[in-house]
Amino acid sequence: MAIAPGLMGRLAVYDAPNRPFEIRLFPVRAPRAGEVLVKIRMSTICRSDVHSYLGHRPNPCPGVLGHEIIGMIVELGQGITHDMRGEALVAGDRITWSEYFIPGPNYYTEVLDLPQKSPGVDKYGHMAATTEPHHHGGFGEYCYVLPQSWILKLPADLTDEEATPINCGVATMMCVTERAGIGMGDAVVVQGLGLLGLYGAAIAKARGARLVVGLDTVAARRDVAAKFGVDHALDPAAMGEADLVKAVRALCRPEGADAVIEVCGYPEVIPAGIQFLRTGGNYVLAGVVNPDAFVRIDANQLIRKLVTLRGVHNYHPRNLVEALDFVHANRGRFPFHELVDGKYSLDEVGRAMKDAEERKVLRAAIIP
Ligand SMILES: [Zn+2]
Repeated sequence: MAIAPGLMGRLAVYDAPNRPFEIRLFPVRAPRAGEVLVKIRMSTICRSDVHSYLGHRPNPCPGVLGHEIIGMIVELGQGITHDMRGEALVAGDRITWSEYFIPGPNYYTEVLDLPQKSPGVDKYGHMAATTEPHHHGGFGEYCYVLPQSWILKLPADLTDEEATPINCGVATMMCVTERAGIGMGDAVVVQGLGLLGLYGAAIAKARGARLVVGLDTVAARRDVAAKFGVDHALDPAAMGEADLVKAVRALCRPEGADAVIEVCGYPEVIPAGIQFLRTGGNYVLAGVVNPDAFVRIDANQLIRKLVTLRGVHNYHPRNLVEALDFVHANRGRFPFHELVDGKYSLDEVGRAMKDAEERKVLRAAIIP
């Protein structure tokens, strides 16, 4: 498919944190070697987009946000013929791709098996709109999948709502539950029942967990949690920390939780998280993505309880494959499509961002 000369694509751009979004036009050119030009079908607003927009973490401006994206291939650049599993790619295919891309093979890819933390790693929806090729975020009509991204073709029977959160929310929770070592018969506590927490609960059950306890202050989230594998949804604000610890430990008999997962973004929940754990348990932090997330903990407890504490940031490319397969295989067991519960046009990005910020929706979707 030839790109018409002079083709322009719309992008929702903001000039500084909290400034209104404006639709601006930027040129669309043919993809270069290693790139894929995609027409965006859907992009969902991740919590990190909200943090960037509010200025809680640095993001270059004029900014174009959005990294949970799916789209149809318009044109493949030279050298891109197959997805990461070897499936042939052609124009018109619907694809997802890693939320990040790296400058090329390096010590992290070759030796440490941490490609997601390669020096110079960059993410979609994290560059200035003025940076060529301009279309590298989800809140627009087009996106270039840039070289050294990981691409997957989407099965035809997956809905856009099921497919869009795969490359950030679901893949991240694949990585988190892997690092938490969740296995058959485990009791798991999930701190935060946003999209990450609900997917985390569902994945924990699929990995064999016998019990999932979910904690969230938002009643609407606790109300839907059972559909995603949460056996007990508690409001941590309804009781003091000591009572909360007692209640959670009573549910995770006999000795406490095998694994605790933090995906709420509040560092002050960490001391309770450590107390939920049984001796020898695993604690994975994935929600406190903002700098200066200070908290006071009793480090002696980590020692005495033989706690393993891990952080997860980005995910390994294998987790993207697992995320797609998990959603595809479990879409009948868990109503994943319900998690994308707000739909907005490109002109409504500002309203979508506000609804996401106020937690009125679990996942707001922008449909250009
Ligand atoms: Zn994200």
